[in-house]
Amino acid sequence: MALSQKGLGRVLDEAPVTGLHRRSIRSVRLPKLSSLRAKLIVPYVVLTLLIAMVGTYVVTRLVTSSIRERFVNQLYETSRVAADGIVRRERTNLADLRLMAYTEGVHQAMSDRDAAGLQDHLWPLVLNNNVEAVTAIDLNGHEIITLARDPVSGQYLFSTGADFSEVGLVRNVLDGQVDSAGDKFVELLETERGLYLFTSAPVRDSTDTLVGALMVGTRLQTLLVELKSQALADIVVLDRHGNLMATTLVQPDEGYSALEMTPQAVADVDPSQTRDVDLYGRNFQMVYAPLEVREQTLGLLGVVLPSSYLVTTEATSRDTFSLLFSLVTLVVVLLGYGLSQSIARPILRLQAILQAVAAGDLNQRTGLNRSDEIGALATAFDSMTLRLRERTEEAARLYAESVQRNRELADINARLQETQQHLIQSEKLAAIGQLTAGIVHDVKNPLMVIKGLAETLQEDTDLDPETQEQLDVIRDSAAQANQIVTDLLKFARQSMLEMSQQDLASTVESALRLTAYLVQRAGVEVVADLPAQPVMVIYDAQQIEQVLINLIQNAIQAMPDGGTLRVSLRQAGEAVAIAVQDTGVGIPPEKLTRVFDPFFTTKPDGEGTGLGLSVSYGIVSHHKGRIDVESTVGQGTTFTILLPTRQPLAAS
Ligand code: ADP
Ligand code: MG
Repeated sequence: MALSQKGLGRVLDEAPVTGLHRRSIRSVRLPKLSSLRAKLIVPYVVLTLLIAMVGTYVVTRLVTSSIRERFVNQLYETSRVAADGIVRRERTNLADLRLMAYTEGVHQAMSDRDAAGLQDHLWPLVLNNNVEAVTAIDLNGHEIITLARDPVSGQYLFSTGADFSEVGLVRNVLDGQVDSAGDKFVELLETERGLYLFTSAPVRDSTDTLVGALMVGTRLQTLLVELKSQALADIVVLDRHGNLMATTLVQPDEGYSALEMTPQAVADVDPSQTRDVDLYGRNFQMVYAPLEVREQTLGLLGVVLPSSYLVTTEATSRDTFSLLFSLVTLVVVLLGYGLSQSIARPILRLQAILQAVAAGDLNQRTGLNRSDEIGALATAFDSMTLRLRERTEEAARLYAESVQRNRELADINARLQETQQHLIQSEKLAAIGQLTAGIVHDVKNPLMVIKGLAETLQEDTDLDPETQEQLDVIRDSAAQANQIVTDLLKFARQSMLEMSQQDLASTVESALRLTAYLVQRAGVEVVADLPAQPVMVIYDAQQIEQVLINLIQNAIQAMPDGGTLRVSLRQAGEAVAIAVQDTGVGIPPEKLTRVFDPFFTTKPDGEGTGLGLSVSYGIVSHHKGRIDVESTVGQGTTFTILLPTRQPLAAS
């Protein structure tokens, strides 16, 4: 029983719940998910930065090129505005010229070389139309009169007598030349008051005869200042040889060489080509276009814009876009981080729960309330955990039940075995009882006759000693047989108990008294351990006394060389226990189960009947009590009688 309990304990330690957990831990190997966040964020951030960088670069380039384009376009526009300004001025000059040529009296005064008359006629026109310079020339190319405003004082000066016969635009007119643009000509002329753009026209009388030439001019410097205010750029004029003629630029320390060109370059100039120029230690962009007036190329007209505007605008746009993209990148990265968090966090939570569940904590819940796939996963996982817990609890409950059943079965089995043992013993006893009851009377009387006759014959003193001895043997044998029969009779009668409430201690004392002689003869020391108060039990005193005598006899017989006989009486729960203990030879284990069998004896013929313990067992059983035996070979044996004080004793 003790062994089986130990076994049960071990089984209980390995309860199915624990077993399940162990299996789960072994089978579920989860990969590390701590890098999930990094896996989500790093490529995202790298990509975002890359896009931001490329974006900044591309956009800056685009903006820069568009700014550059705008700048260049502005340069072209300026160049056109400047050219238009010159053409307009030339037209104005032409209109003034026509007005003068057709003014009444002018051709007459010219043919008369009447300087005063001419002055009178031209003066109002000069003043009204704000003409800077006008020159009348006779057919010989001599200056009749020139009215020119002094650029410094603003006063008109008069001159006369100069020779203009070698000047191209005068020569052309006097020679009566006509080109595709007509009979008028333009040229840039150097005078003592500076460079002038002159337009010349023929003057004819009423008969259409050429009488001279008129020239109206605009001082180039005045024209350029005017153009600068219109075009909002500095203006440069080069002659056909590429030498600087006039400019609105203040002369730089290094001179104008940066602006000038070779004659070949002038001829090949491309008005769609911008060029870098360094002046005053600063960078300028400029464009040259042919200075064409009346289909004549007078030189090159250039416009100059400082490129610092371009540089600063470019830098500003680059800075602005860099900042913009940095901000956008930051926002995108933050958004991405938030997004990855919102993905990674529930997954990490799921992982933690999964590990906890794998480790056996089935009370875990994901707590994720989401409408997306992760939410669905979490819900599925939760319901799975719930079912797993239910199953596990069910398994644990079933296991506990089966353990309980096992225990009950083991108990029932033990009781069954005991009952069977008792049954066998009882059947043996019943069989012996029937047999005994049948033969006792028939055997007892003849034995008494044999014994009585043997004693009677011995009274005859004539008998020889040998016969006397043989009669002794007959008498003793008969006495012994009678004893056996008497025992058998007791055995047969044992079912008939005479129960009464008595002091059990006094019965024990009486049994000891009756065996005192035997004890003394065997040289055995007796120790009686009895309570002072009476131990009142309902029992058959005579039969229990017989049982005690049997046990004491056996004990004495087991101690042939003397020893100690200890008889004790004590309360043992619902029973009283009488122990008869000896320090004798002991009983080997294989015989321990048989000592209560009828006729089982180890004693030599004539000394034991093998009925003592069998009879005792029967008596105690009828009292609803029990006899236990414990023995160690060579050390001694203890028989314990347990008598119930109220109800039958359970088997041990
Ligand atoms: P008997 O005494 O006539 O042999 P019992 O039924 O009284 O028959 O005992 C049966 C056997 O049990 C004995 O022969 C003996 O071997 C053994 N036995 C009984 N009591 C003791 C004891 N106290 N010490 C050793 N052996 C014992
Ligand atoms: Mg005996």
